[in-house]
Amino acid sequence: MSKQIQNIKGMPDLLPHQTSVWQYLEQMISELLTGYGYREIRLPVVEYTDLFKRSIGEVTDIVEKEMYTFTDRNGEWLTLRPEGTAGCVRAATQNGLLANQAQQRLWYQGPMFRYEKPQKGRQRQFHQLGVEAFGIATPDMDAELILLAYRLWQKLGLADYVTLELNSIGSLAARNAYKAELVAFLSAHKAELDEDSQRRLDSNPLRILDSKLPQTQALLDDAPNLHDYLDDDSREHSHQLCYLLDQLKIPYRINPRLVRGLDYYNKTVFEWVTTHLGAQGTVCAGGRYDGLVEQLGGKATPAVGFAIGLERLTLLIEAAGQLPADHQQADIYFVIAGDEAVQGQAFVIAEQLRSALPGLKMITHTGGGSFKSQMKKADKSGAALALVVGSNEMIDKVVAVKPLREGFGGEQELVNVAELPARVQQVLKNKA
Ligand code: ATP
Ligand code: MG
Repeated sequence: MSKQIQNIKGMPDLLPHQTSVWQYLEQMISELLTGYGYREIRLPVVEYTDLFKRSIGEVTDIVEKEMYTFTDRNGEWLTLRPEGTAGCVRAATQNGLLANQAQQRLWYQGPMFRYEKPQKGRQRQFHQLGVEAFGIATPDMDAELILLAYRLWQKLGLADYVTLELNSIGSLAARNAYKAELVAFLSAHKAELDEDSQRRLDSNPLRILDSKLPQTQALLDDAPNLHDYLDDDSREHSHQLCYLLDQLKIPYRINPRLVRGLDYYNKTVFEWVTTHLGAQGTVCAGGRYDGLVEQLGGKATPAVGFAIGLERLTLLIEAAGQLPADHQQADIYFVIAGDEAVQGQAFVIAEQLRSALPGLKMITHTGGGSFKSQMKKADKSGAALALVVGSNEMIDKVVAVKPLREGFGGEQELVNVAELPARVQQVLKNKA
């Protein structure tokens, strides 16, 4: 036997028993977002490498060590998208969606790729839902996005499982002024810093703020505080956002050390975190990025957005005991016990039933076999009912309706073909 080829580490399959929760999530998400006037955009999975270098930033974890980058047969440098905002900005600009100060509320969903150490809640191919609002500079836009996420948690029964962490990282100028002070302070304590943070002191000092190491965090207690350096505009923006969140009764915690791993943010940054998923606790992260559109060659356009990690969200749904019923399971298994003529007739009856009851989930048996073996398959399918047609039933123009589970009728009954849709509907009416 030849050796079986396996999937790539960190890029798992989603098997049939797992996809129900994904379909449920996708439906919830699109209902919610459509309800707030957001429109879906579908973007390519591969982009020019430069797009990510110029947006995410050269000295970020993603660009330095996580991207899947390669040359195509023509020698072009391409990258499997590690996140969605850059591609969304590229597409919106390139296709004129942002022309004449147009406002856009967009969302997308799909696989992202990062070369990371695979573990629970951290994969190399994972999925994000991204929501981006372009053209609105005021904090009511930030508030709406936070509200959207909050509503999603409520819809999914997760509101008690996540908390909102909020910060303002100010304007670029304010951040640069702060950066200089922070570097001066940390340089004086360089020996006490961990290796990673020492390296970041030159390349990306703000990232030291969200170091997970207690020793580094303790040192930061005495460091200058970003909030003392914020510009008035950012301060006012943050103030108004908090006011709106208070009005909406959305709880939040101001975390002055919350910075994001991508370079393009300014003013508002936020994360929804949970304590139920171990180390991979951030399920949603986002913020304002007023400079990015221009940085990528478009007209200056304010913007704000967030991304939800869908694997982490499904794990949280499970941890919270909020898994939906398996809506892909069949209602009916149609058993065909007879020769070709019976089969032809049974197919016709099955199709009539489907036409009469849209949304019915029915497996029509194929592949022949004895009545007994077909009934075994019917049981295994998880269906609530078996319908049986054999030569006797065909002559009498009836179908045998057999309950397979509690609560779907008592004994087997014979039902006239003409009355079948009404009877089936009645027996199944208790099914969720
Ligand atoms: P982390 O700190 O956990 O690495 P991040 O800051 O790199 O997250 P973002 O780039 O902000 O993450 O992505 C938004 C969301 O996408 C994260 O909050 C998380 O839920 C999810 N996510 C990011 N990377 C992964 C991954 N490798 N596997 C699964 N989900 C991920
Ligand atoms: Mg990361």
